[in-house]
Parts: sequence; structure tokens; C-alpha cells
Amino acid sequence: MEPCLISVVVPCYNEEAALPLFLEALRETASSLRTEFDCATELVFVDDGSRDGTLPALREAARTDSHVHYLSFSRNFGKEAAMYAGLEYARGDYIVIMDADLQHPPSMLREMVSVLNSGEYDCAAARRVSRTGEPRLRSFFSRRFYRLINRISDTEIVEGACDFRMMSRRMVDAILSLREYNRFSKGIFSWVGFRTKWLPFENQERVAGETKWSFWGLLVYAVQGIVGFSTAPLVFVALLGVLLCVGALLMVVYVIVKTLLFGDPVGGWPSMACMVMFLGGVQLFCMGILGEYLAKTYLEVKRRPIYVLSETDEDAD
Ligand code: UDP
Ligand code: MG
Repeated sequence: MEPCLISVVVPCYNEEAALPLFLEALRETASSLRTEFDCATELVFVDDGSRDGTLPALREAARTDSHVHYLSFSRNFGKEAAMYAGLEYARGDYIVIMDADLQHPPSMLREMVSVLNSGEYDCAAARRVSRTGEPRLRSFFSRRFYRLINRISDTEIVEGACDFRMMSRRMVDAILSLREYNRFSKGIFSWVGFRTKWLPFENQERVAGETKWSFWGLLVYAVQGIVGFSTAPLVFVALLGVLLCVGALLMVVYVIVKTLLFGDPVGGWPSMACMVMFLGGVQLFCMGILGEYLAKTYLEVKRRPIYVLSETDEDAD
């Protein structure tokens, strides 16, 4: 199917500095897409409760250019929520998600459109093949995370996959039908299925502004991914319980035999104290794992909306 409209969804949080550069780059790309594939491009910016001049810049861009649209959140809801809102709003036949910091090269859009035009794929996704410019420790933990989650989850989470991907209408509709509150897009994209073509690209430095991800933020995101796409930790807790029971039984046998052979001199309270502490720790740890699932369930059953809008370009007209 040849597209007639391509939607570019751009989550923005405090991207005042990068926006003008992004807009300029995208205008150029849009005109080359028009000449090559004869398709129009709309830009859907999602202002994720920015505190800087992002929103005024978006208002101005939408006023002067009818291809620019924006949604503005009432507060910061996170990139996941921003992507959901953008996908919901986008009207295109092909929809692509891009960061505002030009870390995702707009030059790749041409290639993505031709992949989707071939009709064989529903998704053309960029995959980072290098992690240059990233702290060593972060790369290390990131690799560990992918190894772990792929081992314990049925949904494949491709290492280096980022949110920069162009999808067909039907794939986006499938993604929108997953209305969960705790969103982990890397998992959701893969869960909905469809054929994905991976396009390798080199990591780019941000053009302006700074990253919003702290190490702690990434850790919480990783836990969200695991809890969202695997119940293996619950099985782990159960197995640990069984293992400790077997250990306890062996110890009972040992104590009985030892008492029969050597009598029962009083003592051994330090070992007892250690055991109580150890078991207490194990129990709290396991309760923590259970609690994590319970907390996610709690948030899910409240059925809160994924985002709250405060303004869109339609209000401004
Ligand atoms: N972003 C967002 N809400 C947030 C954090 C980030 O919409 O709470 C946007 C941000 O404006 C950018 C994209 O998500 O367009 C990626 O963020 P960032 O560049 O900070 O992440 P990194 O590229 O370092 O992983
Ligand atoms: Mg970035």
C-alpha cells in the first residue's frame, strides 16, 4: 500500500533548545519524502508537561505551519504516556516515533518508508549497534538487563532497539488496544507481533539540551519491564521457598543424628541468630517481589487515564 500521509510523533519534555533544529531538519525531510514517495507528512508533538519554552515554541510552530500539531499534558506523565497520546492522535497511514533531540536521524525515514511500501513488513525499526557516548556502567547494566529479561519473558525484547520506528496503521491500532497503565513500549511493540525489519544505526549525540534519564530512572524502568512482561520472579520466589524447606529438613535430620550421637550441650545461639536474620531477609525480599506485582495490579485496576491533556493545537484555532 502506498501511503498518502506519514505521521511523525515526537514526545518532548523540556526540549526548547532542540526544537528549532528538529523542526528545520524535519521540514527538509518532509519535502524529500513528498518528492520521492508523493506523500504528505504531519508532525504530532506531545509536550509532556515541559517547564521551559517548549509549549510556546510548539504553539508558534503550529500557528505558522498547518502540518504541525501538538498536544500538551497537564503535567509530566513520562515518555511512554507521551508516545501513547501521540499514536492516538496521529492520523497517518504510516506512523513514526522520533525523539526531539535528533538522536534519531531523520535521514532514515526514507528507508523506513520504502521498507513499509514493500508490503512485506508492518514495522521498520531502528536498532542501535553502538553505545558510544554512554557511560560504561550504564552499557554494562543495560546488557545484563536484556539478557535477563529475554531469558525470563516470552516476549522478545531486542537489545539496542529504540522507540524510533515506523509502523503501519494496523500495527498502531493493535498497540493502542493495549490500554495498560504501566507501559513498557519495548515489550508492547514486540508483543503485538507483525513483521519487523531492523535497521542498524550508530548512536548519535544529542544536538541540544540534556538527557532526562538518570541511572535510577532507568532501573525503575527496567523493573517495570520485567514485572510487565514476565511472571518468572514469582516462580523464583516459590522455588526459593521449596529450596529452603528442603534445607530445613536436612538440618532437622542433622540435628537429630548429632543429638543422638553426642548428646545435647547447650549452645549454638549465634548460628540461630544468623539463621533467623537470613530467613527474615529472604522473606522480606520475596514479599517485595510479590508486592511489586501487587502494586502494579493496584495501579492497573484503578483504570486511571494514561495522560491528561491541558491543551492541543485545536484549542488554539
Ligand atoms: N521525554 C518525554 N518525557 C519524559 C522524558 C523524555 O517526552 O519524561 C522525551 C524527550 O523529550 C525526548 C525523548 O523522550 O524527545 C527521549 O528522551 P531523552 O533524549 O532524554 O532520552 P535518551 O535519548 O537519553 O534515552
Ligand atoms: Mg535522547
